[in-house]
Amino acid sequence: MTICRTIEEMRAQVRDWRQAGLRVGLVPTMGYLHEGHMSLVDLAAQRAERVVLSIYVNPTQFGPGEDLDKYPRDFARDEALCRQRGVQALFYPESRAMYAPSHSTWVVVEGLTETLCGRSRPGHFRGVSTVVTKLFNIVQPDVAVFGRKDAQQVLVIQRLVRDLDQPVEVVVAPIVREADGLAMSSRNTYLSADERRRAVCISQALQDAADGYAGGELDACRLRAGVTARIQAGGGRVDYVECVSRDTLQAVTRVDQPALLAVAAFFGKTRLIDNVYLG
Ligand code: AMP
Repeated sequence: MTICRTIEEMRAQVRDWRQAGLRVGLVPTMGYLHEGHMSLVDLAAQRAERVVLSIYVNPTQFGPGEDLDKYPRDFARDEALCRQRGVQALFYPESRAMYAPSHSTWVVVEGLTETLCGRSRPGHFRGVSTVVTKLFNIVQPDVAVFGRKDAQQVLVIQRLVRDLDQPVEVVVAPIVREADGLAMSSRNTYLSADERRRAVCISQALQDAADGYAGGELDACRLRAGVTARIQAGGGRVDYVECVSRDTLQAVTRVDQPALLAVAAFFGKTRLIDNVYLG
């Protein structure tokens, strides 16, 4: 496995592979890897002969007062996990290498980024879209894999790829969960033992809603109310519980088209997200 610390090293590695006719898959991450990330690696490896995993805690997608400085980092562990899983290159740019001091170009996907996490985290998706565009330009992957855990992010990236004619196939991976159902996340490490025990109510609430929907409950308001009540009963502070169209992310009142039921909730200071597809 090669570790590329500069854009030039990454480009040179990909150039060699391309000359050998090999397809390249990219898995963008912020590190502190877990099985959710590694499942993306497996999907990339099924579609490309060479897999690049990037680790970059992108400052531009964090708002003031968010957890940029304390975001968990453990490069040695991440490196070992990538080696075990057969990643061929780790792109681990120096923090400053990615943005020139006078950086002033942004990718903004309108229409999909004003709701859900975009409302709670202004500027977040501008940072995500910009860094993903930069990673695509640096690595020029044939395929890039993203997790459905960040369902809004997936839609935003699919839209930017389409709108900007990026020559990359976007593959979406299912949510990987802990044994009790909590969606895996690097941020779970922030949780105290008590918060960790209680946080399972998010996935339970979503599962209850999915069961209710399967049993014929199509009223978005009642589905959302059930999820909110369950999370509050578990001691969580709800940021949002939204039921939205899976294409537009606009709120729906009745689930008579494929919908996304999405949650963000705080346990202590830790903000967790999760979602389920309805229909
Ligand atoms: P992050 O390092 O949190 O920015 O995540 C990097 C990629 O891994 C994103 O595409 C996430 O959606 C994906 N991911 C994170 N957690 C999970 C999970 N539990 N299951 C599947 N994919 C995940």
